Amino acid sequence: MGFRDRMAKSGGSKSLGKRHNQGTKSTGGGRFPTIFNKDKVPEGVEFWKCKEGEHIVDIIPFEAGPDMPFDERLQPVTEEGNLDYVLDLFVHTNVGEMLKPYVCPHENFGEPCPICEFMKANKLDKDDWKNLVAKHRVVYFLWVHDNREEERKGIQIHEASHFFMEANIEAIAKLPKGGGFVKFSDPDSGRSLAWTRKGASMTNTTHLGHRLVERDSPIPNKILDLTFPLDSIVNMHPDYAEIEKEFRGTLKKMKLLDEPDGPGDAEDNPWADDESTDIDDSGFGDDKEEDTPTPPKRKRPADRTKPSGSDGTTVKRKRRKR
Ligand SMILES: [Zn+2]
Repeated sequence: MGFRDRMAKSGGSKSLGKRHNQGTKSTGGGRFPTIFNKDKVPEGVEFWKCKEGEHIVDIIPFEAGPDMPFDERLQPVTEEGNLDYVLDLFVHTNVGEMLKPYVCPHENFGEPCPICEFMKANKLDKDDWKNLVAKHRVVYFLWVHDNREEERKGIQIHEASHFFMEANIEAIAKLPKGGGFVKFSDPDSGRSLAWTRKGASMTNTTHLGHRLVERDSPIPNKILDLTFPLDSIVNMHPDYAEIEKEFRGTLKKMKLLDEPDGPGDAEDNPWADDESTDIDDSGFGDDKEEDTPTPPKRKRPADRTKPSGSDGTTVKRKRRKR
C-alpha cells in the first residue's frame, strides 16, 4: 500500500491538519559529527544544503516513528504512524573535543541531561549559557524544485535552525482571526515554499521572503513513497554517560572543569572572557545560523531550567523499543 492509500485509511489529512495547527516546539549533518545515523538513511536519499539564492521546495510529510520528541505532557508530539512534516528538536551542539551534537534528553524527552544539569547547577554568564544551551533545530523532507537536477533527486533531508525555517514558515502559514494554519505540507491541497538566502558566509547570512506558492499539481505518489520516519535516522537517545564524558572536554576547554568548591563559587570564576565564546555551530556542517539564546518557543517537557532527576519529581518514561 502506498503512502497516499495509508494516509486515506488512517485519516492522515486530519492528523496532519492537527499538526499544522499545533505548531512546533525546535535541530544538523555532513562530514562533521552529526545527530544523524547516516547508515540508517536509505541509499539515494541526500542531505540538502541551502545555498545562497532563491529556492522553491515542497515540504513532504512523513509517518512518525516510535522516537518522536515529547510535548509538555511527556507524550510524543506525534504518535507513531500519524503524519508530521517536521522533526522538531533541541540539540546541544559542539560538545567536547570532537564538537559533537547531541539531541538533548531533557528538552526532548524530560530525561536527565548532564549538560542541562550543569547549566542549572552553575551560574553562567550569557556567552557561556548561549554556548551550552540546547539549540532549536528542525529536520524536513524537501522536494526541491530549484532546478531539474534537484527535482530528480526526489526527497532530500534538510536540517536547519528553527529561527531561519520553521519560525518563518509558521508566520506565513498562520491564518487570520484564529483560523489555524495553512496545511502547506498536505500532499493534495498543500503549497510550495519559496524563499531567498542572502549571504553565504557563516556569520553573515539571512533567509528572507518566505512565501507559500500554489502548486502546479499534487505531490506524486512516487515522492510520498520515498518517505520514512525522520526520527528513525536521528540518534534520538544518546547515552547519558557518553554525553557526560564528552561534556568534560567542553568544560575543560571552557576552564570550568576543576571548580574546587563546587557550584557555590561560580560567581567569582574567571572564565568570562575565555576562548570558549568562540565556539560556534559549525558542527552542523551547514552555516552558522541564528541559534539565538532566546528561550525556545515550543513548550518543553518539564521546566527547562530544572535538572531532571535531581529532585525525584521527573516523570520517567519507559523508552520504547526502536
Ligand atoms: Zn540538555
